[in-house]
Amino acid sequence: MQPLTEFPLIQRFFNQQRVKNPLTSLGIGDDCALLSVPDGYQLAITTDTMVENVHFFADADPEQLGHKLLAVNLSDLASMGAQPLSVTLALTLPKVNEEWLTAFSKGFLGLAEQYSVDLIGGDTTSGPLTLTVQALGLVPNGKGLRRSTAQPGDFIYMTGCLGDAGLGLKIKQGDVLLNSETALARFNHPNPQVEAGLALLDIANACIDISDGLFSDLGHILEQSQVGASLDWESLPLSEGVKSYINETGDWALPLNAGDDYELCFTVSPEKVKLLTIPCTKIGVIEAILGLRLYKSGQLQSLTSKGYEHFS
Ligand code: ADP
Ligand code: MG
Repeated sequence: MQPLTEFPLIQRFFNQQRVKNPLTSLGIGDDCALLSVPDGYQLAITTDTMVENVHFFADADPEQLGHKLLAVNLSDLASMGAQPLSVTLALTLPKVNEEWLTAFSKGFLGLAEQYSVDLIGGDTTSGPLTLTVQALGLVPNGKGLRRSTAQPGDFIYMTGCLGDAGLGLKIKQGDVLLNSETALARFNHPNPQVEAGLALLDIANACIDISDGLFSDLGHILEQSQVGASLDWESLPLSEGVKSYINETGDWALPLNAGDDYELCFTVSPEKVKLLTIPCTKIGVIEAILGLRLYKSGQLQSLTSKGYEHFS
């Protein structure tokens, strides 16, 4: 059997779903897709690339990879409080592997279906395995949640738990002999916090998704907002798996440093706290004094080990 060429490949794996969003005027098939943007809204646009052996292992399960590729992009929309609308997909493939493409498109389109996101176009080329998505969403004019607008006195919150994906990565790499299904699932199959982001419009002052680790990502809010913060280690939401990992290894910094959780970290002024409707945990407070201060057992920690000097 001849391997599939570009156009039948696109047709077979990426052009089988029906258009779900009434704002998609034209999807896959022409030189561009056409979208309508309703009055009173702005387009939120983001893109993320995943490269084999950099962002994922060569043996990664293709269905989970398809899911994760879309999830990390939807997570960026979530952190701005945007309603996902549509995506484009640029695929660079070393060869046409139909089994791989079947599983990959299943994972990708399954998550797209869940959020009524249309795949409206893309590009397909040959080369080292590289996956790029551009995601488009809608936010009410001027209401997109930013990194630069945290205020001293705001409380810092986050959705979900911290460190599971990082622990999952350690398990996957064989560094830890712990059997945590939750952690592995969180690493392989992150869920973008789209509903949470939407629920934070008009409530949060600043928001970011935790992709590189809490320290690093909260650090972006602090830098761009020109503020500082104090965090309380004891208040961090940790799963049973992460707690037992810390008990066994003493590596209490894992939840601060580990990436890939794709939870939202956001700040809310004390007057608006009562408006919060989503499950979330208060982990600290924004302060006027620059820098990030971490308290553990009431003691200010010096964060000089493990590459944290940036924030000390
Ligand atoms: P062009 O040559 O104008 O760039 P292509 O031949 O690359 O167009 O693609 C044909 C159509 O298929 C276009 O509408 C494009 O957006 C879409 N397309 C290409 N690759 C993909 C893909 N991986 N997923 C979804 N749509 C794709
Ligand atoms: Mg093209």
